[in-house]
Amino acid sequence: MAPVTGRVVRVAGPVVAAGLAGVRLYDVVWVGEARLVGEVIRLGGEAAVIQVYEDTTGLRVGEPVASSGEALEAELGPGLLGAIFDGIQRPLRTMAAAGGDPFARPFVAHGAAPAPLGRDRDWEFQPVVREGDVVGAGDVLGTVQETPALTHRVLAPPGVGGRVEEVRAGMRRVDQPVARVGGRPVYMLQRWPVRVPRPIGRRLAADTPLVTGQRVIDTLFPVARGGTATIPGGFGTGKTVQEQVLARWADADVIVYVGCGERGNELTEILEEFPRLTDPRSGAALLDRTVLIANTSNMPVAAREASVYTGVTIAEYYRDQGYDVALMADSTSRWGEALREVSARLEEMPGEEGYPAYLAARLAEFYERAGAVVCLGADERRGSVTIIGAVSPPGADFSEPVTQHSLRVAGTLWALDTSLARARHFPAIHWSRSYSLYDLAEWFDREVAPDWAQHRRWALALLQREEELLGIVQLLGPDALPPAERAVLATGRRLREDFLQQSAFDDLDAWCPPAKQYGMLRVIRHAHEATMSALGAGADLADLSAAPSLPELAAMRRWPPEEAAGRARELLERLDGELARRAPADAPNVEAGGAGDGNGGDERDG
Ligand code: ADP
Repeated sequence: MAPVTGRVVRVAGPVVAAGLAGVRLYDVVWVGEARLVGEVIRLGGEAAVIQVYEDTTGLRVGEPVASSGEALEAELGPGLLGAIFDGIQRPLRTMAAAGGDPFARPFVAHGAAPAPLGRDRDWEFQPVVREGDVVGAGDVLGTVQETPALTHRVLAPPGVGGRVEEVRAGMRRVDQPVARVGGRPVYMLQRWPVRVPRPIGRRLAADTPLVTGQRVIDTLFPVARGGTATIPGGFGTGKTVQEQVLARWADADVIVYVGCGERGNELTEILEEFPRLTDPRSGAALLDRTVLIANTSNMPVAAREASVYTGVTIAEYYRDQGYDVALMADSTSRWGEALREVSARLEEMPGEEGYPAYLAARLAEFYERAGAVVCLGADERRGSVTIIGAVSPPGADFSEPVTQHSLRVAGTLWALDTSLARARHFPAIHWSRSYSLYDLAEWFDREVAPDWAQHRRWALALLQREEELLGIVQLLGPDALPPAERAVLATGRRLREDFLQQSAFDDLDAWCPPAKQYGMLRVIRHAHEATMSALGAGADLADLSAAPSLPELAAMRRWPPEEAAGRARELLERLDGELARRAPADAPNVEAGGAGDGNGGDERDG
């Protein structure tokens, strides 16, 4: 499509109208003398409506506009990892190093911006194909050691296939050809339109968890690899900390972090903090397997929309190489607000709370780009993109549109609760308001313990029972409850304090692998069931609560993961002895109810 030129006819903040006959929807255009980057978002009548991704202050009617004839694209190739981009993929660190301060004046004119991927760096391309081989789109042509943490696979791009006519091993720049396939040169650098999902072989069922090492998540509300999760929470409830915990500890190969800051300096903090984070897998920098995309609130709102699409396109690109990618978006509310602002400028009919009617569709399209897939390519490699979106509902009111539409499409809800955060219960994920729609029990039962799912159900049921009982206590006081129900309260409290709470800042506890989670839960459940048995046999609750080993439950979080199974077994046996001894000797049933291995069925309390 031939590029078109025209003139600005109207400027309304980030929205500009221009006479551009023949331009296509979503074409990239350069606006004004400064060649500000924008995208055509509406056609019709004489003028095309353009959403400009840079500050339009000073732009005047009559200035020239030129279309590129192409959609907004991301540059893909080695050099993405460790980079920090803005919404339209300009490399902020390169810009800062070149003397500019990208935050003081975040947007320089497009012509002056460096390319997303450095053209001054050589990468060692190691081919895995030979001349004469026949390859198709998505086949691996060779590899590049992009960072110590990740081997980049250079793929035949979609649409390219045929006989390999030439391969060039050795040091090359991203824009130098590494092969010739079916008459076409192939580069390490590829481009892809960000609004279009990248092609895949086929979709896979979401039946494997993205293990996060966070107890409340893995045990109670797991997210599948290739699944979606949403984290709504009021200010200060831990969204940002949670996203960072997941970036560090989730068992993903690549992290894409899209930050839309609440305040300008908040994102600057992230940009300073992230490079300091270490990768627990390797001890090296987490940035070695992370791509950061940043929009501070002092950048134009429209760029937030571009950042979300750029982020998910980069995530898909690593998925296509056969990697598990986790994309964190913090916070999608800022993106929603950008849509609202642009929609208002367009004078569209507002929907709920002023958001455009297409807010729901946009959120759904974004979350739908998650998935576990068989990649394009003959080797049938598998990859996944898991999307975790934070939402910042004003006033922590979850009935607002961005939260509601996110809930409709996300498979997991981690509901952050203001009162939990205020009580310093972290992560402040509320157990009775959160859920996971993924059925991952089979995986946990197979990989961790055959009765994992049963322990999970027990914990959820007990927490629910505790909540009911707490309601009664509020009305009537604790003395109104019989000993068995007071025992439920004690166990509920133990579950909350000794199991669900997990500090992101405690080196020994920040990561808790599933086997340790299971060990801890098993001890809590066993202690509960042994207590109930002893009560049934006539023991006194106060007496049982004084069992000398019970306080050790609070210290389980500090067990080294590799010792957890052994220590859980040892503690169980000790507790058994102590609790059984406290039942009267002549009682008919002093057995601890076989609760140790949980084979006693799915009994619920109360
Ligand atoms: P938000 O992004 O929702 O405004 P933050 O992520 O900045 O909230 O969290 C606010 C504070 O809550 C943090 O500075 C930290 O002190 C505490 N916090 C949040 N999550 C955790 C956690 N998992 N472990 C320990 N402290 C946490």
